[in-house]
Amino acid sequence: MEIEQITSKMREDILAASLDGLIFNDFQKQLPKLRETSLYRIFKAMPKGRLMHAHIEATFNVRDMLSLAIANGGVYVFLDDETPEFRHCQLAHRGWFEDGVIPDGWASLNMALANDPLMKEKLFSMCTSGTGDIDENIWPKFEAIFDRYKAVNNCKPIFMKLYTKVFMDMAAEGLMGVDLRFISQTIFEENGRRLTPDEYVDTVKEIEAEVRKSFPGFHINLIYSYYKGVPAETVPERLAHARHLQEKYPDVFIGYDMVGGEDCGKDLLYYTPVLRDAGVPIIMHAGETVNPDNRNIEYALDLGVRRLGHGLNLYRYPELEARVKADGVMLEVCPLSNQLLGYVPDLRLHPAAGYIKRGLNVTINSDDCAIFDTAYITDDLLLAYLCWDLSIADIKRCLKNSLCGDPAMEEIFEASWAEFESSL
Ligand SMILES: [Zn+2]
Repeated sequence: MEIEQITSKMREDILAASLDGLIFNDFQKQLPKLRETSLYRIFKAMPKGRLMHAHIEATFNVRDMLSLAIANGGVYVFLDDETPEFRHCQLAHRGWFEDGVIPDGWASLNMALANDPLMKEKLFSMCTSGTGDIDENIWPKFEAIFDRYKAVNNCKPIFMKLYTKVFMDMAAEGLMGVDLRFISQTIFEENGRRLTPDEYVDTVKEIEAEVRKSFPGFHINLIYSYYKGVPAETVPERLAHARHLQEKYPDVFIGYDMVGGEDCGKDLLYYTPVLRDAGVPIIMHAGETVNPDNRNIEYALDLGVRRLGHGLNLYRYPELEARVKADGVMLEVCPLSNQLLGYVPDLRLHPAAGYIKRGLNVTINSDDCAIFDTAYITDDLLLAYLCWDLSIADIKRCLKNSLCGDPAMEEIFEASWAEFESSL
């Protein structure tokens, strides 16, 4: 039987057994059940191309992070109520504190776990997010989660072990590489020494070299990211930094982005004067909003972007959609993220279903899989297949779009795909 027939029958069966509609309205909660299905196994085994939209600060498995934090032995947890300085349940390695002095309110993680059998699950829940968290404060809650683990993930020995596992797991999921957004930050050693930003990149490259011993073609790109909402006059310094990194690491650095909630009061037009002559390619989050008057996509296109992060509200502007299609601008679609941040409560209504059918250059991505407790790409792909009435040919086209027309990579992808299909 052909792959289309096999998988569409499986889809029919799954949807017929899910008349409650939860697959569409709370996909994340259905994942444990879906992961047991034959359709999931097929999607897992599928060759994937590259992951084009993910943030390094939220791309890992939270349970892996907790295990590494526990095994390290030097990690503390903030158990007091939230303060302006610390989050409740924030984790930090001792090297993160000034002069290694542990402030009040922090306890050894391993002691806290020994004293409270529910602590591990509480930490997991505080470091992840579900549909139950969606309300008007979702963005502040979401940003609090990033704060909860940055001071443990950036401890060098933990960083190295965690991201080696992340990239090995990505490759095992069939990915050929990943473009990671990266907010300028500092890795620190256990003795507290802060690495320079250049050393950060060197560390990522060191991990990539390790992963390549098992998966020779696996390649990591970094996209320098800064925040939307900041004063425009602070941007040029970041752009200079991005230009330096791109000059020094042309094989790794591919562009500059501004991340965060788009309805923050400062649209891209506000940043246009400083971004116009950036000196680095702009790859921009734009259109991640339900507001009818948000024209960030237009402003991003006017800056000459070739890739739009999300592009969710593009459907509101037919003239812009025609422009995106004609110019082959890539849409980095992140469906589960859109549901879990409250933009698309019913996934059947996600506009990317139409973007794909109308032949736009769409890729499917996971955005922040740590926070959503999802796979690096398989869950979002399965979601697209179950909820958007796509064919496997549509899915394959989205995967291949991530290779940006690179003939050598396309050849590898096609060979893996033929092998995959013949194995069914
Ligand atoms: Zn994103």
